Amino acid sequence: MISDNVHLEEIAKFGAQAERWWDPTGEFKTLHQVNPLRMQFIKEFTEIKKQRIADVGCGGGILSEALAREGAKVLGIDLSEDLINVADLHALDEGVTGVEYRTISAEELAQEMPESFDAVTCMEMLEHVPRPASIVAACARLVKPGGKVFFSTLNRTLKAYALAIVGAEYILNLIPKGTHEYEKFIRPSELTAWARVADLEPLGIRGIEYNPIVKRFRLGKDIDVNYLMAFEKTSG
Ligand code: SAH
Repeated sequence: MISDNVHLEEIAKFGAQAERWWDPTGEFKTLHQVNPLRMQFIKEFTEIKKQRIADVGCGGGILSEALAREGAKVLGIDLSEDLINVADLHALDEGVTGVEYRTISAEELAQEMPESFDAVTCMEMLEHVPRPASIVAACARLVKPGGKVFFSTLNRTLKAYALAIVGAEYILNLIPKGTHEYEKFIRPSELTAWARVADLEPLGIRGIEYNPIVKRFRLGKDIDVNYLMAFEKTSG
């Protein structure tokens, strides 16, 4: 459970809101709203049914549970014990089987279970860790050759600063103030470079666009703010 690639204040910040994680109108409503889009994106590149999937930085389990509901065998991991408890209880409450949760770092799990998963997902997490490249490498190690790895994060552009921080945190109150730090945002070129080093070949990229008038998210070409990327593990 001990990892040096973690900002403990980030874990505390997310953990403090654990009991409101599943409130579709609460602090994490944005994660609930974008989740169907993430599922749609993932399905463009991989089967879900019967696949073994690791969800790294799973939080309260919004994506993990959705994947399990569609027939995957999911292992969700996070370093927030509070969130892992919330995720466990929620799956139990909902009678969702096929999902299991552990408090363990990505790097440790990769050591314990290399090449064990058909797919790995890691959403909205890389921008919260000290060394995101190490998480990318761990995800690459967890997946089987030929398997798929999915990331989503925020792009380091002025537009992302304006929309994801000033807009979403301070004007629209879409997400809690202090959720994001601009310096930690990641350009697609950076993510791709870290991935290539870890034998992950890029397959596709899509933007998560927000329309403030109708208050809805959709997948699109605009990757300036929030984006999803898919990779395939080559044999190296
Ligand atoms: N992936 C989830 C949650 C995103 S919020 C979703 O998109 O629905 C970011 C999550 O990353 C939080 O749950 C936080 O506890 C977790 N996190 C932050 N740093 C981490 C680290 N070093 N290792 C594992 N999880 C981490």
